[in-house]
Amino acid sequence: MTLVSNPSDECVEFKHSLNYGYGRLSYHGEVWRANRVVWAELNGDPGEMHVLHTCDNRACVNPKHLYLGTQADNNRDTALRSTRLLTRNEKEWILNQYNHWGAPIQEIADELEVSYQIVWQTIRQWPPKS
Ligand SMILES: [Zn+2]
Repeated sequence: MTLVSNPSDECVEFKHSLNYGYGRLSYHGEVWRANRVVWAELNGDPGEMHVLHTCDNRACVNPKHLYLGTQADNNRDTALRSTRLLTRNEKEWILNQYNHWGAPIQEIADELEVSYQIVWQTIRQWPPKS
């Protein structure tokens, strides 16, 4: 599909905004995450499996960065990422979701796979001093 034509090794961020601006698409009459749509187009419907990222970029739709995993894999990744530091881009994304789109903190946290606390602290501490 044109969305990911000629993918490089770099992250390919899905820019089109639907719900709260993160990577979601209408696909066969349902709302899917963009990475899942890309996977389905290339490899078929992932069914019960989760389409996960080898990179930490939730908006990324580069097929080279996607792999199929189970809920357990997903949970393990989430646990790993609950302590990770957010990038400046992610912080700006959080602020945009919260202030511009009115996204609930929990939904932002779920989308980034970080804890509620991290998102809340990011919003409270904006703008960063560094
Ligand atoms: Zn990526």
